[in-house]
Amino acid sequence: MIRLSSLTKRFGEQTVLDGIDLSIEEGERVVVIGPSGTGKSTLLRCINFLDRPDHGSIKIGDLTVTAERANRRGILALRRRTAFVFQNYSLFANRTVRENITEGLIVVRGWPASKARERADEILRDIGLSDRAEAYPSALSGGQQQRVGIGRAMALDADLMLFDEPTSALDPEWVGEVLDLMRRVAETRQTMLIVTHEMQFAREIADRIVFMDAGHIVEMGSPAAIFDDPKDRRTKNFLRRVS
Ligand code: ADP
Ligand code: MG
Repeated sequence: MIRLSSLTKRFGEQTVLDGIDLSIEEGERVVVIGPSGTGKSTLLRCINFLDRPDHGSIKIGDLTVTAERANRRGILALRRRTAFVFQNYSLFANRTVRENITEGLIVVRGWPASKARERADEILRDIGLSDRAEAYPSALSGGQQQRVGIGRAMALDADLMLFDEPTSALDPEWVGEVLDLMRRVAETRQTMLIVTHEMQFAREIADRIVFMDAGHIVEMGSPAAIFDDPKDRRTKNFLRRVS
């Protein structure tokens, strides 16, 4: 359903993604782990052209966008099929919580304001933040802000949700509520590609673990295969360091 082929990204002389091939089934939860500086964020960002890949293609359903031939229309179409949850929430500081959710629906999806508002209020109930609809992000805890970040992505009903270390900017006290919300998203069989350092959570939620190092997928498999029986020396070293 989703297929990344030969995805390659360079920053100057440095090859950050070196021909990534990855297929994701509909409803699958794939967790990417690996050392920092390895290209995990760049991989997610290339999928919706927040970073422009130099080579390779991205296929989501019947849409295929090839790096060398990507035009504005193709890029917008990819963005409509994906939703991104950022490490630092990336909420609009000058918009209320509700407006943060309606914005994408109105601007990217072209929904009328009234329909977007209904959808936002449904999402706010779902994420337990109805009473903060009129608040500005700065009045919320980190955990609440990230729940809005996830709610905003949920509202888009995208084919693929991308999570880039959604809990790593949070104080430890807020991590649990964000992981709980992600578990609930996973229960809806939403297709998810998640970068996280929360290994216990990864083991529990993932259908498949992808271990990346230095711009390559080194190995992938079930949580049991990767965590309990890693084959590659680099995977073993990484897991030894983080556990
Ligand atoms: P990870 O998410 O695995 O920590 P990143 O994808 O953020 O890794 O970064 C991979 C490499 O690409 C790093 O060496 C980083 O410094 C470099 N990099 C990332 N973004 C940029 C950028 N916009 N310009 C130049 N180099 C970048
Ligand atoms: Mg990163």
